Amino acid sequence: MARPEKTSAKIVDVADSYAVRLMQHLVVPTFVIDPKRRVVIWNRACERLTGVAASEVIGTTKHWQAFYETKRPCLADLVALDRPEQLPEFYSEYAARGHNGLGFSAENWCVMPKLGNQLYLAIDAGPIHDEAGHLIAVVETLRDLTDQKRAETALKELATKDGLTGLSNRRSFDQMLMAEWDRAQRTQKPMALLFVDVDHFKLFNDRHGHQSGDECLRTVAAVVSRHAVRPLDLASRYGGEEFALILPDMDRDAACAVAEQIRCAVMALRIAHGAIGAGDHVTLSIGVAGHIPGEADGSPDRLLGAADEALYAAKRLGRNRIICAERVLAEFAELGREPVPTPPRRKLA
Ligand code: GH3
Ligand code: MG
Ligand code: MG
Repeated sequence: MARPEKTSAKIVDVADSYAVRLMQHLVVPTFVIDPKRRVVIWNRACERLTGVAASEVIGTTKHWQAFYETKRPCLADLVALDRPEQLPEFYSEYAARGHNGLGFSAENWCVMPKLGNQLYLAIDAGPIHDEAGHLIAVVETLRDLTDQKRAETALKELATKDGLTGLSNRRSFDQMLMAEWDRAQRTQKPMALLFVDVDHFKLFNDRHGHQSGDECLRTVAAVVSRHAVRPLDLASRYGGEEFALILPDMDRDAACAVAEQIRCAVMALRIAHGAIGAGDHVTLSIGVAGHIPGEADGSPDRLLGAADEALYAAKRLGRNRIICAERVLAEFAELGREPVPTPPRRKLA
């Protein structure tokens, strides 16, 4: 009777070591912890991925050191501790696969201290139970998604940024304007919009060349961007030599002050212009509009139109100035000039 038992124990042993060897050589980076969260398996692919040898972590709870600089749980630890509620604290993307023993999935940038370069890892951690339902191990597998993540980020940048200046492009301007408009409507807070246009820029190109023109646009863009200081302020290149600045939660007077700072900052740079018909230095004209969207205000088109009209008035009144939309008529009256009404040219694309 003893013989068959011994044989079956041997078979189990062989099967065990066979399974361990299989896991050691699996191409998927994998490690296993026991219920006390000590590492019991750290396979070759995991050594290659992390730069940490199995001998450094087996029998310890130091597996976090392969991924992070400061002590924190790995996904396998959260599975072992059954703490799905901590996933948002530690991972940018995550999913708990329910409470029926399926484990968690997550994605995250990891510091990888041994390698010295960050990796974006997709992580799956699943528990293993014995017949009685007790936890005997947690298996964590890792996938390196760094290249895909970088490509995705670069594509997103391309889709939202202007290539010449690095500011947000027209597309993200339109999206952000709509979103901020909706928010201002909900919160009944003011929002302001600036249109910034380089004066006599065609003459600048004619005199200094297109490349210097590009350089000038980059310089002006940097000034506009410097004035988008709060997290939701958005500086964008609206097109050509025109920039737009969305200033959520800001009234007209404060927006006019920002506009004046931008105008003065570019003047202070004393970028040589000197073309016949233009001044000695590059200047800006800026149209400012502000509004608290009412319930009946459907879209920000009127805000766009008002800022555009103010910019147009600034040009007609002699350039190198800021004009606030509600002051357009008064400004013309003060100079004894007849305003030319302009239909709004701008709409959301
Ligand atoms: P105003 O003072 O009335 O605004 O006159 P302006 O000459 O600045 O305006 P206009 O619209 O007549 O000309 C804009 C010029 O901007 C024409 C175009 O060649 C130039 N421009 C547009 N985009 C770029 C660019 O990316 N690089 C360069 N160098 N020039 C550009
Ligand atoms: Mg211009
Ligand atoms: Mg223009």
